[in-house]
Amino acid sequence: MGTKFIFFTGGVLSSVGKGVAAASIGRLLKSRGFKVTIQKLDPYLNIDPGTLSPYQHGEVYVLDDGSEADLDLGHYERFCDLRLKKTSTVSSGQVYEEVLSRERRGDYLGGTIQVIPHITGEIKRRVYLLGETSGADIVLIEVGGTVGDIEGQPFLEAIREMRNELPRKDSAFVHCTWLPYLRATAELKTKPTQHSVRELRSIGIMPDMILPRSDHPVDYEIRQKIARFCDVPVEAVVPMVTADMLYEIPLDLEDSHVADILLARLGLEARHEPKLDGWRWMINELKKDRPVAKVALVGKYVELQDAYLSVREALKHAGLFCDLDIEIDWVSSADLPEDIVDERLAGADAIIVPGGFGTRGIDGKMFAARYAREHQVPFLGICLGMQVMALEFARNVMGMKDATSAEFDSKAINPLVDYMPEMKSQERLGGTMRLGLFDIDLAEGSLAEQCYLTRHIAERHRHRYEINDAYREQLEAHGLKVTGQSPEGDLIEILELEGHPYMIGTQFHPEFLSRPNRPHPLFVGLLQAINERRGLPTEKLKFGFEN
Ligand code: GLN
Repeated sequence: MGTKFIFFTGGVLSSVGKGVAAASIGRLLKSRGFKVTIQKLDPYLNIDPGTLSPYQHGEVYVLDDGSEADLDLGHYERFCDLRLKKTSTVSSGQVYEEVLSRERRGDYLGGTIQVIPHITGEIKRRVYLLGETSGADIVLIEVGGTVGDIEGQPFLEAIREMRNELPRKDSAFVHCTWLPYLRATAELKTKPTQHSVRELRSIGIMPDMILPRSDHPVDYEIRQKIARFCDVPVEAVVPMVTADMLYEIPLDLEDSHVADILLARLGLEARHEPKLDGWRWMINELKKDRPVAKVALVGKYVELQDAYLSVREALKHAGLFCDLDIEIDWVSSADLPEDIVDERLAGADAIIVPGGFGTRGIDGKMFAARYAREHQVPFLGICLGMQVMALEFARNVMGMKDATSAEFDSKAINPLVDYMPEMKSQERLGGTMRLGLFDIDLAEGSLAEQCYLTRHIAERHRHRYEINDAYREQLEAHGLKVTGQSPEGDLIEILELEGHPYMIGTQFHPEFLSRPNRPHPLFVGLLQAINERRGLPTEKLKFGFEN
Protein backbone atom coordinates (compact mmCIF):
# COMPACT_ATOMS: atom_id res chain seq x y z
CA MET A 1 0.00 0.00 0.00
CA GLY A 2 1.28 3.49 -0.85
CA THR A 3 1.46 6.17 1.80
CA LYS A 4 -1.85 7.91 2.37
CA PHE A 5 -2.10 11.63 3.06
CA ILE A 6 -4.79 13.47 5.00
CA PHE A 7 -4.66 17.25 4.68
CA PHE A 8 -6.20 19.60 7.25
CA THR A 9 -7.11 23.13 6.21
CA GLY A 10 -8.84 25.86 8.18
CA GLY A 11 -11.47 28.43 7.40
CA VAL A 12 -13.30 31.35 9.00
CA LEU A 13 -10.94 31.82 11.95
CA SER A 14 -7.62 30.60 13.15
CA SER A 15 -7.38 28.88 16.53
CA VAL A 16 -10.45 26.72 15.95
CA GLY A 17 -8.55 23.62 17.00
CA LYS A 18 -7.27 22.32 13.69
CA GLY A 19 -4.10 21.02 15.31
CA VAL A 20 -6.02 19.21 18.02
CA ALA A 21 -8.37 17.78 15.38
CA ALA A 22 -5.44 16.44 13.37
CA ALA A 23 -3.77 15.07 16.49
CA SER A 24 -7.02 13.43 17.64
CA ILE A 25 -7.62 11.82 14.28
CA GLY A 26 -4.02 10.62 14.32
CA ARG A 27 -4.74 8.93 17.65
CA LEU A 28 -7.87 7.25 16.30
CA LEU A 29 -6.00 5.92 13.27
CA LYS A 30 -3.12 4.72 15.41
CA SER A 31 -5.55 2.94 17.70
CA ARG A 32 -6.69 0.96 14.63
CA GLY A 33 -3.20 -0.35 13.98
CA PHE A 34 -1.86 2.20 11.50
CA LYS A 35 1.51 3.85 11.75
CA VAL A 36 0.88 7.58 11.56
CA THR A 37 2.98 10.69 11.48
CA ILE A 38 2.10 14.36 11.36
CA GLN A 39 3.46 17.49 9.73
CA LYS A 40 2.69 21.16 10.19
CA LEU A 41 3.03 23.54 7.25
CA ASP A 42 3.36 27.06 8.64
CA PRO A 43 2.93 29.93 6.19
CA TYR A 44 4.89 32.49 8.22
CA LEU A 45 8.26 33.64 6.92
CA ASN A 46 10.27 32.90 10.05
CA ILE A 47 12.57 29.94 9.53
CA ASP A 48 11.21 28.50 12.77
CA PRO A 49 9.32 29.93 15.76
CA GLY A 50 12.52 29.98 17.84
CA THR A 51 12.80 33.75 17.73
CA LEU A 52 9.07 34.46 18.06
CA SER A 53 7.79 35.97 21.28
CA PRO A 54 5.53 33.61 23.22
CA TYR A 55 3.00 36.46 23.07
CA GLN A 56 2.88 36.01 19.31
CA HIS A 57 2.84 32.31 19.02
CA GLY A 58 2.58 30.63 22.40
CA GLU A 59 5.20 28.17 23.51
CA VAL A 60 8.14 27.14 21.37
CA TYR A 61 8.14 23.35 21.35
CA VAL A 62 11.40 21.44 21.00
CA LEU A 63 11.89 18.11 19.23
CA ASP A 64 14.55 15.44 19.86
CA ASP A 65 16.72 16.68 17.00
CA GLY A 66 16.64 20.23 18.37
CA SER A 67 14.09 21.63 15.94
CA GLU A 68 12.16 24.52 17.42
CA ALA A 69 8.57 24.02 16.47
CA ASP A 70 5.03 25.28 16.74
CA LEU A 71 3.12 24.22 19.83
CA ASP A 72 0.87 22.07 17.67
CA LEU A 73 3.76 19.63 17.41
CA GLY A 74 3.33 19.18 21.15
CA HIS A 75 -0.32 18.24 20.63
CA TYR A 76 0.71 15.75 17.95
CA GLU A 77 3.34 14.13 20.13
CA ARG A 78 1.09 13.96 23.18
CA PHE A 79 -2.05 12.74 21.45
CA CYS A 80 -0.33 10.22 19.22
CA ASP A 81 2.58 9.38 21.54
CA LEU A 82 5.12 10.13 18.83
CA ARG A 83 8.68 11.46 18.71
CA LEU A 84 8.73 13.74 15.69
CA LYS A 85 11.68 15.15 13.77
CA LYS A 86 12.54 18.26 11.81
CA THR A 87 10.74 16.85 8.78
CA SER A 88 7.45 17.39 10.62
CA THR A 89 7.79 21.14 10.67
CA VAL A 90 7.88 23.26 7.53
CA SER A 91 7.66 27.06 7.30
CA SER A 92 7.57 29.38 4.31
CA GLY A 93 10.88 30.72 5.58
CA GLN A 94 12.53 27.29 5.29
CA VAL A 95 11.02 26.71 1.88
CA TYR A 96 12.17 30.06 0.50
CA GLU A 97 15.60 29.70 2.09
CA GLU A 98 16.06 26.33 0.41
CA VAL A 99 14.90 27.52 -3.01
CA LEU A 100 16.97 30.70 -2.83
CA SER A 101 20.12 28.90 -1.78
CA ARG A 102 19.65 26.50 -4.68
CA GLU A 103 19.29 29.49 -6.97
CA ARG A 104 22.55 30.95 -5.64
CA ARG A 105 24.28 27.62 -6.18
CA GLY A 106 23.17 27.80 -9.77
CA ASP A 107 20.86 24.81 -9.67
CA TYR A 108 18.20 26.58 -11.73
CA LEU A 109 20.67 28.14 -14.13
CA GLY A 110 18.82 30.00 -16.83
CA GLY A 111 15.43 29.55 -15.17
CA THR A 112 13.14 32.12 -13.63
CA ILE A 113 12.36 31.20 -10.04
CA GLN A 114 8.63 31.38 -9.38
CA VAL A 115 6.17 30.59 -6.62
CA ILE A 116 4.69 27.98 -8.94
CA PRO A 117 6.42 25.60 -9.59
CA HIS A 118 9.52 26.24 -7.46
CA ILE A 119 8.08 27.17 -4.08
CA THR A 120 5.14 24.79 -4.44
CA GLY A 121 7.54 22.10 -5.67
CA GLU A 122 9.69 22.46 -2.57
CA ILE A 123 6.59 22.27 -0.34
CA LYS A 124 5.47 19.07 -2.06
CA ARG A 125 8.97 17.62 -1.83
CA ARG A 126 8.87 18.08 1.93
CA VAL A 127 5.46 16.47 2.29
CA TYR A 128 6.42 13.46 0.13
CA LEU A 129 9.76 13.22 1.94
CA LEU A 130 8.06 12.74 5.29
CA GLY A 131 5.94 9.99 3.73
CA GLU A 132 9.07 8.23 2.44
CA THR A 133 11.32 8.65 5.47
CA SER A 134 8.83 8.04 8.27
CA GLY A 135 7.58 4.68 7.10
CA ALA A 136 4.10 5.84 8.13
CA ASP A 137 1.00 4.31 6.59
CA ILE A 138 -0.80 7.61 6.92
CA VAL A 139 0.69 11.11 7.00
CA LEU A 140 -1.48 13.87 8.45
CA ILE A 141 -0.63 17.36 7.25
CA GLU A 142 -1.95 20.50 8.88
CA VAL A 143 -1.80 23.69 6.86
CA GLY A 144 -1.46 26.61 9.25
CA GLY A 145 -3.61 29.73 8.92
CA THR A 146 -6.93 29.99 7.14
CA VAL A 147 -8.05 29.72 3.55
CA GLY A 148 -7.80 33.10 1.88
CA ASP A 149 -4.57 34.18 3.61
CA ILE A 150 -2.16 35.49 1.00
CA GLU A 151 0.84 33.76 2.56
CA GLY A 152 -0.94 30.41 2.69
CA GLN A 153 -1.67 30.25 -1.01
CA PRO A 154 1.46 28.39 -2.12
CA PHE A 155 0.71 25.69 0.46
CA LEU A 156 -2.86 25.23 -0.70
CA GLU A 157 -1.71 25.16 -4.31
CA ALA A 158 0.89 22.52 -3.41
CA ILE A 159 -1.62 20.23 -1.71
CA ARG A 160 -4.09 20.75 -4.55
CA GLU A 161 -1.42 19.52 -6.94
CA MET A 162 -0.73 16.54 -4.71
CA ARG A 163 -4.39 15.65 -4.82
CA ASN A 164 -4.06 15.27 -8.59
CA GLU A 165 -0.66 13.60 -8.55
CA LEU A 166 -1.66 10.91 -6.10
CA PRO A 167 -4.02 8.04 -6.87
CA ARG A 168 -7.54 9.15 -5.98
CA LYS A 169 -7.68 6.97 -2.86
CA ASP A 170 -4.38 8.17 -1.46
CA SER A 171 -5.43 11.59 -0.23
CA ALA A 172 -8.26 13.03 1.82
CA PHE A 173 -9.06 16.62 2.76
CA VAL A 174 -10.52 17.78 6.04
CA HIS A 175 -11.62 21.37 6.47
CA CYS A 176 -12.01 22.89 9.96
CA THR A 177 -14.27 25.90 10.41
CA TRP A 178 -16.13 27.86 13.04
CA LEU A 179 -19.87 28.25 13.65
CA PRO A 180 -20.62 31.62 15.22
CA TYR A 181 -23.52 31.75 17.66
CA LEU A 182 -25.97 34.62 17.57
CA ARG A 183 -27.39 35.15 20.98
CA ALA A 184 -30.24 37.39 19.86
CA THR A 185 -31.77 34.62 17.77
CA ALA A 186 -30.14 31.74 19.64
CA GLU A 187 -28.81 30.11 16.52
CA LEU A 188 -25.59 28.90 15.00
CA LYS A 189 -24.71 30.41 11.63
CA THR A 190 -23.29 28.31 8.81
CA LYS A 191 -22.66 31.09 6.30
CA PRO A 192 -18.97 31.65 7.14
CA THR A 193 -18.40 27.90 6.73
CA GLN A 194 -20.13 27.95 3.36
CA HIS A 195 -17.97 30.86 2.26
CA SER A 196 -14.75 29.29 3.35
CA VAL A 197 -15.58 26.03 1.59
CA ARG A 198 -16.45 28.02 -1.53
CA GLU A 199 -13.06 29.71 -1.27
CA LEU A 200 -11.37 26.34 -0.92
CA ARG A 201 -13.20 24.98 -3.92
CA SER A 202 -12.30 28.02 -5.98
CA ILE A 203 -8.69 26.95 -5.71
CA GLY A 204 -9.56 23.40 -6.64
CA ILE A 205 -9.76 21.61 -3.29
CA MET A 206 -12.96 19.72 -2.49
CA PRO A 207 -13.10 18.77 1.17
CA ASP A 208 -14.06 15.20 2.02
CA MET A 209 -14.96 16.10 5.57
CA ILE A 210 -15.89 19.27 7.41
CA LEU A 211 -15.26 19.77 11.10
CA PRO A 212 -17.17 22.85 12.21
CA ARG A 213 -16.04 23.92 15.67
CA SER A 214 -18.72 25.30 17.91
CA ASP A 215 -19.13 26.38 21.50
CA HIS A 216 -22.72 25.11 21.35
CA PRO A 217 -24.30 21.79 20.46
CA VAL A 218 -24.86 21.42 16.72
CA ASP A 219 -28.11 19.78 15.62
CA TYR A 220 -28.70 17.54 12.64
CA GLU A 221 -30.31 20.29 10.56
CA ILE A 222 -27.24 22.45 10.76
CA ARG A 223 -25.13 19.52 9.67
CA GLN A 224 -27.51 18.85 6.80
CA LYS A 225 -27.35 22.46 5.72
CA ILE A 226 -23.55 22.42 5.67
CA ALA A 227 -23.57 19.11 3.84
CA ARG A 228 -25.93 20.47 1.17
CA PHE A 229 -24.03 23.69 0.56
CA CYS A 230 -20.59 22.17 0.75
CA ASP A 231 -21.09 18.93 -1.18
CA VAL A 232 -20.13 16.45 1.48
CA PRO A 233 -22.26 13.64 2.89
CA VAL A 234 -23.96 14.62 6.13
CA GLU A 235 -22.05 11.95 8.12
CA ALA A 236 -18.88 13.73 7.03
CA VAL A 237 -19.98 16.98 8.67
CA VAL A 238 -18.72 16.36 12.17
CA PRO A 239 -19.14 19.13 14.70
CA MET A 240 -16.28 19.66 17.12
CA VAL A 241 -18.12 20.99 20.10
CA THR A 242 -15.85 22.68 22.62
CA ALA A 243 -15.02 20.07 25.24
CA ASP A 244 -14.15 20.54 28.89
CA MET A 245 -10.91 18.76 28.25
CA LEU A 246 -8.85 18.61 25.09
CA TYR A 247 -8.25 14.91 25.63
CA GLU A 248 -11.98 14.24 25.22
CA ILE A 249 -11.89 15.25 21.59
CA PRO A 250 -10.57 11.95 20.21
CA LEU A 251 -13.44 10.14 21.92
CA ASP A 252 -16.00 12.67 20.65
CA LEU A 253 -14.67 12.21 17.14
CA GLU A 254 -14.70 8.45 17.61
CA ASP A 255 -18.39 8.60 18.50
CA SER A 256 -18.94 10.34 15.16
CA HIS A 257 -17.01 7.57 13.30
CA VAL A 258 -14.53 10.05 11.88
CA ALA A 259 -11.73 7.52 11.49
CA ASP A 260 -13.97 5.00 9.76
CA ILE A 261 -15.24 7.62 7.31
CA LEU A 262 -11.70 8.68 6.46
CA LEU A 263 -10.44 5.11 6.15
CA ALA A 264 -13.29 4.30 3.78
CA ARG A 265 -12.36 7.37 1.74
CA LEU A 266 -8.74 6.14 1.61
CA GLY A 267 -9.76 2.60 0.69
CA LEU A 268 -8.38 1.17 3.94
CA GLU A 269 -9.77 -1.19 6.51
CA ALA A 270 -8.96 -0.91 10.19
CA ARG A 271 -6.28 -3.46 11.12
CA HIS A 272 -8.10 -4.21 14.36
CA GLU A 273 -10.85 -2.89 16.58
CA PRO A 274 -9.95 0.55 17.95
CA LYS A 275 -7.89 0.18 21.11
CA LEU A 276 -9.02 3.09 23.20
CA ASP A 277 -9.42 1.53 26.64
CA GLY A 278 -6.48 3.42 28.10
CA TRP A 279 -7.73 6.68 26.69
CA ARG A 280 -11.23 6.09 28.05
CA TRP A 281 -9.78 5.23 31.44
CA MET A 282 -7.87 8.50 31.37
CA ILE A 283 -10.97 10.58 30.61
CA ASN A 284 -12.93 8.84 33.36
CA GLU A 285 -10.16 9.54 35.83
CA LEU A 286 -9.87 13.15 34.75
CA LYS A 287 -13.59 13.63 35.29
CA LYS A 288 -13.60 12.09 38.74
CA ASP A 289 -13.60 14.24 41.83
CA ARG A 290 -10.01 14.15 42.98
CA PRO A 291 -8.31 16.08 45.76
CA VAL A 292 -7.25 19.47 44.42
CA ALA A 293 -3.61 20.52 44.46
CA LYS A 294 -2.72 24.11 43.78
CA VAL A 295 0.48 24.63 41.82
CA ALA A 296 1.80 28.18 41.55
CA LEU A 297 3.41 28.72 38.15
CA VAL A 298 5.61 31.79 38.47
CA GLY A 299 6.43 33.10 35.02
CA LYS A 300 6.74 36.12 32.81
CA TYR A 301 4.07 35.29 30.25
CA VAL A 302 1.26 34.10 32.51
CA GLU A 303 -1.39 36.25 30.80
CA LEU A 304 -0.96 34.00 27.79
CA GLN A 305 -1.17 30.52 29.19
CA ASP A 306 -0.28 28.93 25.86
CA ALA A 307 3.24 30.10 26.58
CA TYR A 308 3.44 27.28 29.13
CA LEU A 309 1.23 24.77 27.37
CA SER A 310 3.49 21.75 27.79
CA VAL A 311 4.08 22.47 31.48
CA ARG A 312 0.35 22.68 32.02
CA GLU A 313 -0.21 19.41 30.21
CA ALA A 314 2.65 17.69 32.05
CA LEU A 315 1.02 18.65 35.35
CA LYS A 316 -2.28 17.26 34.15
CA HIS A 317 -0.64 13.97 33.11
CA ALA A 318 1.14 13.59 36.43
CA GLY A 319 -2.04 14.53 38.32
CA LEU A 320 -3.77 11.62 36.66
CA PHE A 321 -1.27 9.18 38.11
CA CYS A 322 -1.00 10.80 41.53
CA ASP A 323 -4.75 11.14 41.90
CA LEU A 324 -4.67 14.92 42.12
CA ASP A 325 -6.74 17.50 40.29
CA ILE A 326 -4.25 20.22 39.45
CA GLU A 327 -5.28 23.80 39.70
CA ILE A 328 -2.64 26.15 38.35
CA ASP A 329 -2.27 29.51 40.02
CA TRP A 330 -0.72 31.73 37.35
CA VAL A 331 1.59 34.10 39.17
CA SER A 332 3.13 36.94 37.20
CA SER A 333 6.79 37.10 38.19
CA ALA A 334 6.96 40.76 37.17
CA ASP A 335 4.25 41.57 39.73
CA LEU A 336 5.67 39.72 42.69
CA PRO A 337 7.47 42.19 44.94
CA GLU A 338 9.13 40.82 48.04
CA ASP A 339 6.55 42.14 50.48
CA ILE A 340 3.65 40.19 48.98
CA VAL A 341 5.42 36.88 48.27
CA ASP A 342 4.47 35.10 51.49
CA GLU A 343 0.83 36.02 51.17
CA ARG A 344 0.67 35.39 47.43
CA LEU A 345 2.22 31.93 47.65
CA ALA A 346 0.71 30.87 50.95
CA GLY A 347 -1.88 28.61 49.32
CA ALA A 348 0.52 26.90 46.92
CA ASP A 349 1.01 23.17 47.37
CA ALA A 350 3.91 23.30 44.95
CA ILE A 351 5.75 25.93 42.93
CA ILE A 352 7.10 25.78 39.39
CA VAL A 353 9.37 28.37 37.85
CA PRO A 354 9.37 27.51 34.14
CA GLY A 355 11.79 28.44 31.36
CA GLY A 356 12.21 31.95 30.10
CA PHE A 357 14.50 34.59 28.70
CA GLY A 358 15.63 38.07 29.71
CA THR A 359 15.61 39.97 32.96
CA ARG A 360 11.99 40.98 33.42
CA GLY A 361 10.44 39.29 36.42
CA ILE A 362 13.67 37.68 37.60
CA ASP A 363 13.37 39.08 41.11
CA GLY A 364 9.86 37.68 41.47
CA LYS A 365 11.10 34.26 40.40
CA MET A 366 13.94 34.50 42.88
CA PHE A 367 11.51 35.36 45.72
CA ALA A 368 9.39 32.37 44.75
CA ALA A 369 12.43 30.06 44.88
CA ARG A 370 13.39 31.47 48.26
CA TYR A 371 9.86 30.95 49.54
CA ALA A 372 9.89 27.31 48.39
CA ARG A 373 13.29 26.72 49.96
CA GLU A 374 12.44 28.28 53.30
CA HIS A 375 8.95 26.83 53.58
CA GLN A 376 9.83 23.34 52.33
CA VAL A 377 7.30 23.68 49.49
CA PRO A 378 7.85 21.19 46.63
CA PHE A 379 9.58 23.09 43.83
CA LEU A 380 10.54 22.42 40.23
CA GLY A 381 12.74 24.93 38.41
CA ILE A 382 12.90 24.43 34.68
CA CYS A 383 15.82 25.84 32.68
CA LEU A 384 15.74 29.54 33.63
CA GLY A 385 13.85 28.33 36.71
CA MET A 386 16.85 26.19 37.67
CA GLN A 387 19.26 29.04 37.04
CA VAL A 388 17.16 31.29 39.27
CA MET A 389 17.04 28.61 41.96
CA ALA A 390 20.85 28.48 41.95
CA LEU A 391 21.19 32.25 42.01
CA GLU A 392 18.82 32.61 44.93
CA PHE A 393 20.75 29.96 46.79
CA ALA A 394 24.11 31.60 46.10
CA ARG A 395 22.90 35.01 47.16
CA ASN A 396 20.94 34.06 50.26
CA VAL A 397 22.62 30.90 51.53
CA MET A 398 26.21 31.20 50.31
CA GLY A 399 26.23 34.94 50.89
CA MET A 400 27.43 35.66 47.36
CA LYS A 401 25.27 38.74 47.01
CA ASP A 402 26.48 39.62 43.52
CA ALA A 403 25.93 36.16 42.01
CA THR A 404 24.15 36.62 38.71
CA SER A 405 23.73 35.31 35.20
CA ALA A 406 25.67 36.54 32.20
CA GLU A 407 22.27 36.83 30.56
CA PHE A 408 21.41 39.66 32.97
CA ASP A 409 24.86 41.22 33.31
CA SER A 410 27.54 40.52 30.73
CA LYS A 411 30.26 42.00 32.96
CA ALA A 412 29.30 40.05 36.07
CA ILE A 413 31.99 39.54 38.71
CA ASN A 414 30.33 36.33 39.86
CA PRO A 415 28.69 34.80 36.77
CA LEU A 416 27.18 31.81 38.53
CA VAL A 417 25.20 31.26 35.37
CA ASP A 418 27.40 31.77 32.37
CA TYR A 419 27.38 31.70 28.61
CA MET A 420 28.28 28.22 27.42
CA PRO A 421 31.79 28.16 25.95
CA GLU A 422 30.61 26.60 22.70
CA MET A 423 28.06 29.40 22.30
CA LYS A 424 30.55 32.24 22.68
CA SER A 425 31.31 32.47 18.98
CA GLN A 426 27.64 32.79 18.00
CA GLU A 427 26.49 36.15 16.81
CA ARG A 428 23.03 35.26 15.66
CA LEU A 429 20.01 34.61 17.84
CA GLY A 430 18.07 32.13 15.68
CA GLY A 431 18.85 28.43 16.14
CA THR A 432 21.98 29.11 18.16
CA MET A 433 21.06 27.58 21.48
CA ARG A 434 21.89 24.17 22.86
CA LEU A 435 18.88 22.47 21.43
CA GLY A 436 17.36 19.03 21.57
CA LEU A 437 18.01 15.70 23.19
CA PHE A 438 21.20 15.20 25.23
CA ASP A 439 22.25 12.36 27.51
CA ILE A 440 22.42 12.91 31.24
CA ASP A 441 23.90 10.78 34.01
CA LEU A 442 22.18 10.84 37.39
CA ALA A 443 23.93 10.63 40.75
CA GLU A 444 23.45 7.46 42.73
CA GLY A 445 20.94 7.81 45.52
CA SER A 446 19.67 11.17 44.26
CA LEU A 447 16.06 12.24 44.25
CA ALA A 448 16.29 12.34 40.48
CA GLU A 449 17.34 8.69 40.40
CA GLN A 450 14.45 7.81 42.68
CA CYS A 451 12.05 9.53 40.28
CA TYR A 452 13.44 8.13 37.05
CA LEU A 453 14.32 4.69 38.44
CA THR A 454 17.41 4.72 36.25
CA ARG A 455 20.72 6.57 36.17
CA HIS A 456 20.87 7.34 32.45
CA ILE A 457 18.35 9.59 30.81
CA ALA A 458 18.06 11.83 27.75
CA GLU A 459 16.07 15.04 27.81
CA ARG A 460 15.25 17.95 25.52
CA HIS A 461 17.06 21.26 25.93
CA ARG A 462 16.76 24.84 24.81
CA HIS A 463 19.23 27.17 26.47
CA ARG A 464 22.19 29.41 25.90
CA TYR A 465 23.49 29.71 29.47
CA GLU A 466 24.51 27.11 32.03
CA ILE A 467 25.47 26.82 35.69
CA ASN A 468 29.12 27.82 35.82
CA ASP A 469 31.17 24.75 36.70
CA ALA A 470 33.65 26.91 38.62
CA TYR A 471 31.05 27.29 41.37
CA ARG A 472 30.08 23.62 41.58
CA GLU A 473 32.14 22.84 44.67
CA GLN A 474 30.88 25.87 46.56
CA LEU A 475 27.25 25.11 45.72
CA GLU A 476 27.64 21.51 46.78
CA ALA A 477 29.46 22.40 49.98
CA HIS A 478 26.46 24.49 51.01
CA GLY A 479 23.96 21.75 50.13
CA LEU A 480 22.88 22.40 46.55
CA LYS A 481 23.94 19.14 44.92
CA VAL A 482 24.64 18.43 41.30
CA THR A 483 22.71 15.21 40.71
CA GLY A 484 22.60 15.22 36.94
CA GLN A 485 25.36 16.05 34.49
CA SER A 486 26.42 15.43 30.93
CA PRO A 487 28.22 12.07 30.49
CA GLU A 488 31.50 14.01 30.03
CA GLY A 489 30.80 15.64 33.38
CA ASP A 490 31.27 19.16 32.08
CA LEU A 491 27.69 20.36 32.06
CA ILE A 492 25.45 20.67 35.09
CA GLU A 493 21.99 19.36 34.27
CA ILE A 494 20.20 18.88 37.60
CA LEU A 495 20.44 20.54 40.99
CA GLU A 496 18.81 19.26 44.17
CA LEU A 497 18.60 20.92 47.55
CA GLU A 498 19.73 18.72 50.37
CA GLY A 499 17.35 18.45 53.30
CA HIS A 500 14.37 19.73 51.33
CA PRO A 501 11.55 17.27 50.53
CA TYR A 502 11.58 18.13 46.82
CA MET A 503 13.50 21.06 45.41
CA ILE A 504 14.83 20.23 41.97
CA GLY A 505 16.08 22.32 39.09
CA THR A 506 16.69 21.01 35.59
CA GLN A 507 18.61 22.66 32.78
CA PHE A 508 16.40 20.73 30.37
CA HIS A 509 12.67 20.85 29.74
CA PRO A 510 11.03 17.74 31.19
CA GLU A 511 7.60 18.94 30.02
CA PHE A 512 8.36 18.12 26.39
CA LEU A 513 8.57 14.40 27.06
CA SER A 514 5.46 14.06 29.20
CA ARG A 515 2.62 12.09 27.66
CA PRO A 516 -0.89 11.48 28.95
CA ASN A 517 -0.12 7.77 29.08
CA ARG A 518 3.43 8.26 30.39
CA PRO A 519 3.69 11.18 32.79
CA HIS A 520 7.14 12.62 33.34
CA PRO A 521 8.95 11.26 36.42
CA LEU A 522 9.93 14.70 37.71
CA PHE A 523 6.37 16.02 37.52
CA VAL A 524 5.15 12.83 39.21
CA GLY A 525 7.84 13.38 41.85
CA LEU A 526 6.64 16.92 42.44
CA LEU A 527 3.05 15.81 42.95
CA GLN A 528 4.06 12.85 45.08
CA ALA A 529 5.83 15.32 47.33
CA ILE A 530 2.50 17.13 47.72
CA ASN A 531 0.77 13.87 48.66
CA GLU A 532 3.54 13.07 51.09
CA ARG A 533 3.13 16.41 52.82
CA ARG A 534 -0.57 15.70 53.13
CA GLY A 535 0.04 12.24 54.50
CA LEU A 536 -1.62 10.63 51.47
CA PRO A 537 -0.32 7.53 49.70
CA THR A 538 2.32 8.42 47.12
CA GLU A 539 2.94 5.12 45.39
CA LYS A 540 2.46 5.05 41.67
CA LEU A 541 -0.63 2.95 41.34
CA LYS A 542 -1.13 2.65 37.65
CA PHE A 543 2.02 3.85 36.02
CA GLY A 544 1.49 4.28 32.32
CA PHE A 545 -0.88 2.62 29.89
CA GLU A 546 -0.52 1.19 26.42
CA ASN A 547 -1.17 3.85 23.89
N1 GLN B 1 17.49 32.12 29.24
C1 GLN B 1 18.09 30.94 29.74
C2 GLN B 1 19.18 30.39 28.83
O1 GLN B 1 19.24 30.73 27.69
C3 GLN B 1 17.07 29.86 29.99
C4 GLN B 1 16.42 29.36 28.76
C5 GLN B 1 15.15 28.64 29.04
O2 GLN B 1 14.59 28.73 30.12
N2 GLN B 1 14.63 27.91 28.05
O3 GLN B 1 19.98 29.60 29.27
